[in-house]
Order: sequence, then C-alpha cells, then structure tokens
Amino acid sequence: MKYNEIPTKIYLEENEMPKAYYNVRADMKNKPAPLLNPGTKKPFTEEELCGVFCKELVKQELDDDTPYIPIPEEVQRYYKMYRPSPLFRAYNLEKKLGTPAHIYYKFEGNNTSGSHKLNSALAQAYYAKQQGLKGVTTETGAGQWGTALSMACSYFDLDCKVFMVKTSYEQKPYRREVMKVYGASVTPSPSMETQVGQKILQEHPGTGGSLGCAISEAVEVAVTNEGYRYALGSVLNQVLLHQSIVGLEAKAALDKIGVKADMIIGCAGGGSNLGGLISPFMGEKLRGEADYEIIAVEPQSCPSFTRGVFAYDYADTGRICPLVKMYTLGSDFIPAPDHAGGLRFHGMSGILSQLYHDGYMKAVAVKQTDVFAAAEQFSRAEGILPAPESSHAIKVAIDEALKCKETGEEKKILFGLTGTGYFDLYAFEKFHNGEMQDNIPTDEELESFRKNLPDIKE
Ligand SMILES: *Cc1c(COP(=O)(O)O)cnc(C)c1O
Repeated sequence: MKYNEIPTKIYLEENEMPKAYYNVRADMKNKPAPLLNPGTKKPFTEEELCGVFCKELVKQELDDDTPYIPIPEEVQRYYKMYRPSPLFRAYNLEKKLGTPAHIYYKFEGNNTSGSHKLNSALAQAYYAKQQGLKGVTTETGAGQWGTALSMACSYFDLDCKVFMVKTSYEQKPYRREVMKVYGASVTPSPSMETQVGQKILQEHPGTGGSLGCAISEAVEVAVTNEGYRYALGSVLNQVLLHQSIVGLEAKAALDKIGVKADMIIGCAGGGSNLGGLISPFMGEKLRGEADYEIIAVEPQSCPSFTRGVFAYDYADTGRICPLVKMYTLGSDFIPAPDHAGGLRFHGMSGILSQLYHDGYMKAVAVKQTDVFAAAEQFSRAEGILPAPESSHAIKVAIDEALKCKETGEEKKILFGLTGTGYFDLYAFEKFHNGEMQDNIPTDEELESFRKNLPDIKE
C-alpha cells in the first residue's frame, strides 16, 4: 500500500463512538477466579464488596456473562470532550525504520490527565454520584490516576481524597497541584490519618511509601467514613470493562478503513489499558472468528507476567483489599524506583492473567534504558512525547517492525500509546545524563517475596 492510501489520522465521527462497553469475560471459557476476602479467604459476596466499592461497580465486577454494558449518557457526554481518541498510522516512524510493516497506534494522551485513566475515572465517578455518595478515596503513585479521578469527581461534584505515594508527592509537585486545581485533597502516604499509615510509619519511619501502602490507606478511609467508597484505577475487572472503549474505537476505525491487525501490543502495569485495547479483538479470538498475536510489555524491574507466579495474592501492603488470582511477584515486592511509575505494581489484572495462563497472549519484559531510547526514536519521527509507561509498547513495536524488515513481512502492528510524558521530564533528564540504571531483580530476590504468598486451597 502506498503512502497516504490510508489517512495518517483515522478518526471516527462522534456518532460512530461506542455506546456500550464490551465485557470480554462473557466470551472467556475459563473465567477469572473470584475475588477472595482476605480475612476469611472465601469469595467476597456482593454485599461485602459494596462496603468498599459502589454498588453498580460491584455488579460490573462480578458480571462474567453480559457481553455489552451500556455507557451511561452522562459519561458519553464527557467522553465526547476528548474522544474518540485518534488512531494514527505511523508513516513517519515506518519510513525512518525502513520497515515494510504497517504501524498503527491509538493515542490516549489527549486530555489534561494525560492518559487513558480518565476513561474509567469518569465511569466510576458517575456511578458513585448516582448512588448518592459524598465522595471517593483513592491512591496514586506517579499521579496519573489521581489526576484522572480528580477531573471526573469535579465534573460530577464529588469529593475526592487522594493518597499520593510520598516520594511522588515530593518529586512530582506539578501532578499534585493539578489534582488540587480540580478540587481534590491530596495527602502524602503513609500518613498519620489512618491506622494502617500510623502502623507503617512506626515500623518504617522515614519511608517514601509505596502504592500498596497508599491503597491500604485509601481503603481504610473509604470503609470508615459514611458516604465514601474506594476507587481503583487498574487491575479490577470493572476497569478493564471501562477501558474497552479504547479497543472498541480502535477496532471500529480499523474496520472503517478495511484493515485487520495482525499483532497488538500494549504496556502492562495492572493491565487496564492493554486489557481495554485488546478486548474486542480478544473476543473474536476467543470465539474463533479471527486470530491476533497479542503481546504485553512489562519492565524488567517489575516482571509480573514473565517471572511471577499465577496465584492468589494480596493487592496491597496492608492486606485489606480483596485477594486476586493473578500473576504476581508477591505483595511485599517493592520494585526498584524506575521511572515508569504506572508499571510498578507487583500483580496483574485477573482477566489478563487468566488469558495469559490459557495461552491467548504473550509477554515480554524490557530494559528501562532501551525503553527511553525507543521513546526518543518515536518522538523524533512522530512528534508526540510519550509517557515512559507507553514507551514500553513503543520499544516492542519497533523491535517487531525491525523483524519485519528482515523477513519482508507487511505485518499490521497496532499498539497502545497510553499517555504523554510532559510530567516525566525528570526521567528523561536522568536518561540524557547517563544516570539511568537498569534494575533487574535476581531469582533469589524474587524467590524471597514468593514465600509470603497467602496459602489458599483451591
Ligand atoms: C497507569 C498507566 C499505565 C499502566 O496501567 P495499566 O493499568 O496497565 O494500563 C500505562 N500508561 C500510562 C500513561 C499510565 O498512566
């Protein structure tokens, strides 16, 4: 195909946007394992979960059967402010690489929060408002999720309380201030405001905090304050459901120009962007209608898929969140302070874990310095400054395109460009100064964290 036969930006019209989320679980033969109560080790009941999350979201969390769930009109209204997000044909990158492969990427960075996370934040805030709640609590690491939820809460007039990992709170003042612009209250975690925070501070005075610890604090505040619930930005089934809008739009746009992807690539932290991007494609694969090669990309510093185990584990340090059966490195694993904050989670979505376990997708782990080199190569060709998380997908898309150069294959590669890197220039500075390290845990280290997995009889 010649240059320009397909437009560089493949847009959908507003009236072509999806009106329902797609629930990939409906087409999975092996459903993800149920969430367990960390106290009783028994499956969480709907009622128990409703103490933590808002009602409608609990329903979505537990719904393994309904394939399409309507997107509330109020949520569609806000989506239209920044969606459909563009699907780009990376002509310029292809040219610079000299590859016969066709590269497409779905760009989710065109909103103030700068990432795909707003897609789920809006849905979660909407259902909280509908239930008559006063507000929601959450944690944020690098700040993308906290920003997204702050935006969503301000739109729906909800109170938003964010526990931000202390090191990020100090190192990323701009993200912190953006959240405040949208009216959120931001507390560095661990804090003295919660029992779990006090306990952690007593045991580890001076700690910079971790995502697992911030989650525990946010959950504690939600369950002990009337009219509040907890919101999580990744991992959960409901979040993948909301993020399916990314894949549905991408597929609709590709269908519109008559292109079938051969390979789909995405970065994987908790699995929400990748899960959302691949959902409709995976549905076809599960139903035997089409085949796609699907690749999850993770950092070598936090290799949940490639070096973790498939087991029930805690999602948080305080061990008060539901147990998820997932690929995990152990809830005590604290990844090296790499710059892709959104990928530093010890576990993985239960849906993606089951699909990976059943052989429907592959995973690769990449080195941080290679990722930043790929990010620069990409921005010099395509103009967009990518987030470090997103650049993991870029790295593997480039590798795959270069393989096609050897074989002469005209593979159609689609990858998810989840966000922008404007708030990550500190990391780029480290890279430019040659101060960036590749942190790769040893087998012994990983083994030591595995010992602390809960003992669950299935
Ligand atoms: C949070 C984040 C990710 C990783 O989270 P997933 O749930 O795995 O998608 C990736 N990219 C960006 C820009 C993020 O903010």
